[in-house]
Amino acid sequence: MFRLDDHVRRLERSAKVLCLRLTEGRDAVYSAVLELLRRNEIRHDIYVRPMVISGSNLLAPVLREEDSSTIIWCMPLKRYIDKDAIDVCVSSWRRTPDNAIPSRTKPTGGYLNSALARREAYDNGYDEAIFLTEGGMVSEGSAEHIFLVRDGTLISPPSTEDNLDGITRRSLITMATEDLGYAFVERPIGRTELYVADEMFLCGTGAQVTPVRSVDKRVLGDGGIGPITERMSAHFQDVVHGRVEARMDWLTPVWV
Ligand code: PMP
Repeated sequence: MFRLDDHVRRLERSAKVLCLRLTEGRDAVYSAVLELLRRNEIRHDIYVRPMVISGSNLLAPVLREEDSSTIIWCMPLKRYIDKDAIDVCVSSWRRTPDNAIPSRTKPTGGYLNSALARREAYDNGYDEAIFLTEGGMVSEGSAEHIFLVRDGTLISPPSTEDNLDGITRRSLITMATEDLGYAFVERPIGRTELYVADEMFLCGTGAQVTPVRSVDKRVLGDGGIGPITERMSAHFQDVVHGRVEARMDWLTPVWV
């Protein structure tokens, strides 16, 4: 499991923001995740989704710690979008502000915003949607963070742009700067800067590293997968599959 502890801690923090809780604490979630994989004899790449549910049957909308319960499900992890490099558009839907439905957490209700943007993108012949914030700055994909490459430097918008507190993003920043020696800058990104990036990729637990070919029909670079994107993706795969000794502390063995 990749960064199990960080994922469960984020779940706990998200629950706190939403006045819910991990009913039996973090350790119970760790053990349940591992038991789920062992009982199902999972020996391939798998996506695991623990969720804290608010089980109230009151008429009024409420959030109460005592209504919390946890479920965990998993499904095989393949390519998130089955293409080598994807064509994306800037969505006409704006990212829900953190002050409306807290986008820095992972609230299930917030995925209606993601689903609307994805649906619009598909209807218009694109593979994925990029959200801007209400203020017009680049936020994130429907379920992925964004990295650009300009003149050899990796750039990603800060979490103040109404995007999730992302674990893959954080991991890739560490890999880029500490393992691969790339320069990285976190700063706001304007829409048109996407069009002139040398390279761009999306990332997430499901999306892993997904190269972007074009944004709003503007083809990036030479239209292939850029060299930095390629290297980041390969290194990410090496790390999550336990082939990088120095990053083994990010992994929790399922089969010991
Ligand atoms: N943004 C959103 C809205 C997401 O749902 C996801 C997927 N969890 C991400 C970004 C990527 O975050 P992470 O790397 O933590 O999976």
